[in-house]
Amino acid sequence: MAELGEFELIDRFFRHPTRHTVLGVGDDAALLAPTPGFELAVSVDMLVAGRHFFEDVDPEALGHKTLAVNLSDLAAMGANPRWALLAGALPDSDETWLAAFARGFFALADAYDVDLVGGDTTKGPLNLCVTILGEVPPGQALRRSGARPGDAVYVSGALGGAALAVAQHHGRIALTRDELAPCESALLRPMPRVALGERLRGVATAAIDVSDGLVGDLGHVLEASGAGATLDLAAIPRPPAIDRILGESQRELALACLLAGGDDYELCFTAPERCARDIGSLARQLELPLTRIGAIEQRPGLVVVGEHGRPLTPLPRAFDHFAPAPP
Ligand code: ADP
Ligand code: MG
Repeated sequence: MAELGEFELIDRFFRHPTRHTVLGVGDDAALLAPTPGFELAVSVDMLVAGRHFFEDVDPEALGHKTLAVNLSDLAAMGANPRWALLAGALPDSDETWLAAFARGFFALADAYDVDLVGGDTTKGPLNLCVTILGEVPPGQALRRSGARPGDAVYVSGALGGAALAVAQHHGRIALTRDELAPCESALLRPMPRVALGERLRGVATAAIDVSDGLVGDLGHVLEASGAGATLDLAAIPRPPAIDRILGESQRELALACLLAGGDDYELCFTAPERCARDIGSLARQLELPLTRIGAIEQRPGLVVVGEHGRPLTPLPRAFDHFAPAPP
């Protein structure tokens, strides 16, 4: 079968009806009409085969995740996602693969009312890059810099599952099928917390999405806010498998997944203690656990209090592409 040409490929798989765009895929640039008076929130994320995902990953899940990680960044800003651009290097034009990828991508795009308005397509080692644009009422975006001493620290959902699924793939842990299921779905099909981000406008003082692990990502909030925090290890929400492993011989691995495992795409945010009731009712409305895990402090640094009230030292390190590999 002849290989699909570049433009036929774009037409077949990436031209999709738009709902709020003046001019989408097919010209030299897209034309957008942002809501007058709103601020634009813009972010870009790249996913590289072998680094961010396994080369043989299910293409539909990859299509989902390629967009999900970008939606997560807008969620963390409290912005409403509106438009996306997709730049991809593909090793070939495998139609079955492309159809599945596009299915995963557009299912999520449609669910969040995001128009794909352009992109770029080249041949090369599999690499996917999405630029996302969203809107936020002026002055209301959630930044990393607003946490204040006395604020409570919250996370949505559960942490550590995605990293645990990766550990299973690498043969470093043996999970039961029931334990693996929620971890795999966290890794392959993260749900961006867009509705939460939007509802946190005017409530949260700071927010970030947990893409590189709690210690590192909360660390960015603390640095930007010029503050510190104390967290309670027992309070950090986690899948059941983490609790089992914590009590057994692979405690280090469980702690690393929970505190420094990447790829969870939950939101970590801070809010004044007086907002606790509002946050509780928000959790019920969204049917999403929002757990208080600690508090912001004046003194710098991050302390995680473990069993018997003892601080964990050293804390597991956050993921860093350029850091030397751990021993
Ligand atoms: P140009 O050469 O002017 O940069 P291209 O040939 O790269 O244009 O792309 C043609 C059209 O298809 C453009 O509108 C571009 O935005 C769009 N496009 C290219 N690749 C993709 C893709 N993967 N997804 C969505 N739109 C794409
Ligand atoms: Mg181009």
